[in-house]
Amino acid sequence: MTATRVLVLNSGSSSVKYQLLDMTDDSRLATGLVERIGEGTSRLLHTPLTGEGAERARHEPIPDHAAALKAVASELATDGMGLDSPRLAAVGHRVVHGGRRFTEPTVVDEPVLREIERLIPVAPLHNPANLRGIRTAQAMNPRLPQVAVFDTAFHTTLPEHAARYAIDVATADSHRVRRYGFHGTSHAYVSRRTARLLGKRPDEVNVIVLHLGNGASASAVRGGVCVETSMGLTPLEGLVMGTRSGDIDPAVIFHLSRVAGMSVDEIDTLLNKRSGLVGLCGDNDMREIRRRIEQGDGAARLAFDVYVHRLKKYVGAYVAVLGRVDAVAFTAGVGENSAPVREATAGGLEGLGLAVDPELNAIRGEEPRLISPAGSRVAVAVVPTDEELEIARQTYSLVAGDGTST
Ligand code: AMP
Repeated sequence: MTATRVLVLNSGSSSVKYQLLDMTDDSRLATGLVERIGEGTSRLLHTPLTGEGAERARHEPIPDHAAALKAVASELATDGMGLDSPRLAAVGHRVVHGGRRFTEPTVVDEPVLREIERLIPVAPLHNPANLRGIRTAQAMNPRLPQVAVFDTAFHTTLPEHAARYAIDVATADSHRVRRYGFHGTSHAYVSRRTARLLGKRPDEVNVIVLHLGNGASASAVRGGVCVETSMGLTPLEGLVMGTRSGDIDPAVIFHLSRVAGMSVDEIDTLLNKRSGLVGLCGDNDMREIRRRIEQGDGAARLAFDVYVHRLKKYVGAYVAVLGRVDAVAFTAGVGENSAPVREATAGGLEGLGLAVDPELNAIRGEEPRLISPAGSRVAVAVVPTDEELEIARQTYSLVAGDGTST
């Protein structure tokens, strides 16, 4: 029996999301989520996607990642798709920070685990959880290849002048301070999918990708190679996000420390959790913000305008970085669903060759689609992201060695 299935695991600090895919046709066999690990109210939601299977929920204490994965494995086994199945080729893990070393998906061994561990100081929230997920999966089936797919990998091609902050080089180098970029799996998938939508190969087109989810980032991709991205040392830099500020003058931090007496941890929490859309208007869900705007809410209007203004600035900057742009692609929760954000972002950029057709923009759908008027100099597209499929493809192409990654 050929092993053609890949289990994709996305381990967060208190959650594990998973999907089981069959790489012969990229189909989903099962999907699920373990939430609130370590809390009394933890639960597992499992959805088999083959046959008649309906969603199953387990409400039970799940104290740690090992217990979470054991519960996931037992649900999969119930559907005849357990971790010991000979059809399972590998487990693909999302790992947030791969530093400069990991430019490709990598089969995990002890030295790789140690390197991911060494990167914890630059990804204190994410890498420890990712590591726990890998170690647990390894322990459950030591013969199964574990592959790490890094959020930073797609951005390791950034030229030095884009990756460097203009600070003292010795200080930066000894503490690994530079622009790494995140959401790379999504930027890679969407930039390639956009090329396909245009009927071109990735190396033939220049694309600006706007990944607008609760976290948000932009990238400039020249001929399939990422040359600039908005997130930096951490996912805090760049666009206005659901709860993160994105770009600010770094002196705001000194000012709040000196004048407001806030500690570094308090400012960290302020900028990561109480800023962005939530900081500006109290809501981070774009649907709710639009609803409030319809009712004449001024704070929601301002939050929307600040969000779009920042996006527009990045689009303009990335047009300048790329010189020639073939497409701007909107993706993730806001990018895929919010026609007003797309319209406002492209509005007024006709001089740069960008325009959005209101009728095309209003159409909802799951498929990649163009929303710019026919004959536009720059194509504007909505391209739903699929990080799990991209992780599965990269994982499978590594363990099957057949270069099927697209
Ligand atoms: P993500 O992180 O990609 O799952 O995106 C989550 C965000 O997408 C939510 O916080 C919402 O702001 C936004 N979102 C989801 N669905 C919609 C929708 N139908 N219209 C506008 N925004 C949406």
